[in-house]
Amino acid sequence: MDYSEAKQRIEELRNLIKDNNEAYYVLDTPVITDFEYDELFRELKKLESDFPDLITPDSPTQKVGGSASGEFKEFKHKYRLYSLDNSNNYEDLYRWYERVKKEYPNEDDLELVVELKIDGLSCALSYENGILKTGATRGNGIIGENITENIKMINDIPQKLLMPLNLEVRGEVYMPVSSFERLNLENMEKGQKEFANPRNAAAGSLRQLDAAITKQRDLHFFAYTAISEDKELFKTHFEALELLKKSGFNVNPNCSLVKGIEPVIEKCKYWETERFKLDYATDGLVVKINDISKQNELGYTSRAPKWATAFKFPPEEVWTKLNGIELSVGKTGIVTPVALLEPVILAGSCVKRASLHNFDEIQRLEINIGNEVLIKKAAEIIPKVIKKRDNEELGIYKTPEKCPSCGTELIKPEGEVALCCPNLYGCPAQIKGKIEYWASKEAMDIDGIGESVVEKLYDTGLIKDFADLYKLTVEDFMTLDLIKEKSADNLYTAIQASKNPTMTKFLTALSIKHIGKETADLIASEFSTLEQIEHATEEELIKIDGIGTKAAASIIEFFNNERNKEILSKLKEYGVNPKGSAVEKISDIFEGKTFVITGTLSAPRSVFEEKIKKLGGKTSSSVSKKTSYVLAGENPGSKFDKASSLGVIILNEEDFNSLIEGNINE
Ligand code: NAD
Repeated sequence: MDYSEAKQRIEELRNLIKDNNEAYYVLDTPVITDFEYDELFRELKKLESDFPDLITPDSPTQKVGGSASGEFKEFKHKYRLYSLDNSNNYEDLYRWYERVKKEYPNEDDLELVVELKIDGLSCALSYENGILKTGATRGNGIIGENITENIKMINDIPQKLLMPLNLEVRGEVYMPVSSFERLNLENMEKGQKEFANPRNAAAGSLRQLDAAITKQRDLHFFAYTAISEDKELFKTHFEALELLKKSGFNVNPNCSLVKGIEPVIEKCKYWETERFKLDYATDGLVVKINDISKQNELGYTSRAPKWATAFKFPPEEVWTKLNGIELSVGKTGIVTPVALLEPVILAGSCVKRASLHNFDEIQRLEINIGNEVLIKKAAEIIPKVIKKRDNEELGIYKTPEKCPSCGTELIKPEGEVALCCPNLYGCPAQIKGKIEYWASKEAMDIDGIGESVVEKLYDTGLIKDFADLYKLTVEDFMTLDLIKEKSADNLYTAIQASKNPTMTKFLTALSIKHIGKETADLIASEFSTLEQIEHATEEELIKIDGIGTKAAASIIEFFNNERNKEILSKLKEYGVNPKGSAVEKISDIFEGKTFVITGTLSAPRSVFEEKIKKLGGKTSSSVSKKTSYVLAGENPGSKFDKASSLGVIILNEEDFNSLIEGNINE
């Protein structure tokens, strides 16, 4: 790019950034994603470093982004606030550390504090003798907005410190993700403005002219900086954080003191995925030099401290083109639309498909093939489509009327949102889905029978249902191209080895509507043989705790159906024989008690499950308020945390044994 082209592009970029700053900081309504904004910013920085004489003091790269809206009184900050330099790659973090390290050639690894970068709105609070005097937004770092009255509405912000300090405290006001979702739902129902993300919701709620509205919103505060004239109060950033905690502030617990840059990189990698488990938004990590005298020596650029930098996570939201909508028919006939996308990098991986949930969702999003859509990755593995860019000419995708697999008219069962193909026994997609599920890990766990093998076995007519898998010979497998002798042998052996499943696995594998693994387990623990289940009455079934009328009706319907009877008798004929798991009760000491087992115990979980059942208790795989006890072994997972938060009694193995012996009082 030559000089005049660069000059023109720099001008364009500055204008674009200026417009987007206004939308983001003043109106709390961004029109592009943060990632897109950061890309513009980086392009500008790169051009300015290639053509340094085009840098002007009013360039966005030379100052802090925000400004005061004019709706609040201006507030002149006593100490200037800065932004943070940021990057989304680890090389830049290494480079930053090397630059800093160069200033201290005689020192070993420097002490750093690594913190989560909370995606909210930064505020500066001033305390005199421990009393909150003012609260202000950052604005352009020199002048912010005086929002003292609104700040006082946030419970996390103490109006009186636990110590009579003169202190400036900085931190982030944020809205929990769950509260943001609730607020948007309420706003949608009332036809009011929905916020783009929790950060904008926090900013919009805090910068309300009527402080009573702020009070109604669920706002919180994490403190991350303290400034004091008293140089003895704290000498390191970590000590400042400790002081903030002691004074009554919430300091984000995910912050640590480390030596050198390697542990920082580890933390960045860890939080890239773990952040989705938090109920507040974080857009990266911040690394700061711990020693405050070093911070002062390193100083600031016109926009950001040199003693700190931020690592930004890869984008969670990105725009791409909707190239098509695939209709997938599940094993129980539910037709699900899946978005086929122009491949794009999202949160670090290449995304080609996204979930559209159901056809009501397509109507709500008003999308059609050809639209530009915003996709988002959250806790789920599959990203979802959030919204489209306006392009009304394309209209809305038409909800299909016929099954894409068998052409049967689709129906919408009462009370359900999903569209269904009712051709349960003739629809190839459903039959293949059931066979695939039969062989899956969750069900009969037959290694090697995946989507492509099932497709071939069914399309060549070798099997018509999952029972037929057991009549296949090694030679049958050999007729399928791509399958070599060894794998044909392996497939045959794996199928034959699955003939004696537990009753739970067998019932799960049948793909009975409303009967998942957990319900199957409840049924299996009540009946000893398949014959008993086949002939169970509604009364007998609903007597089982956890089985409702819907599940009971579905079981009865399944076992009365002629086609199912045929499949079941074929299974019997081929020697598939589920083992009943009903445990004979020897005592009632656990009557009415539900246990959840987590972590590694001294014996397999099934041993403990059997013990519990023998003593009249029940087991479940998920923790709820109804759980009586959680039996936790080594390295317990999220169930342990959930149990703690719900106040469920947690037992270790020793406690459990004592409980059996009657030595523990509840
Ligand atoms: P920034 O948000 O990238 O980083 C600086 C801010 O981080 C600080 O002011 C502070 O508020 C915050 N922060 C959170 N946790 C912190 C911690 N533990 N320690 C220190 N600071 C912490 O910078 P910025 O100048 O506020 O905003 C620029 C960013 O805002 C852009 O990179 C972009 O992501 C976003 N933005 C988006 C648009 C848009 O149109 N989408 C427009 C303008 C800005």
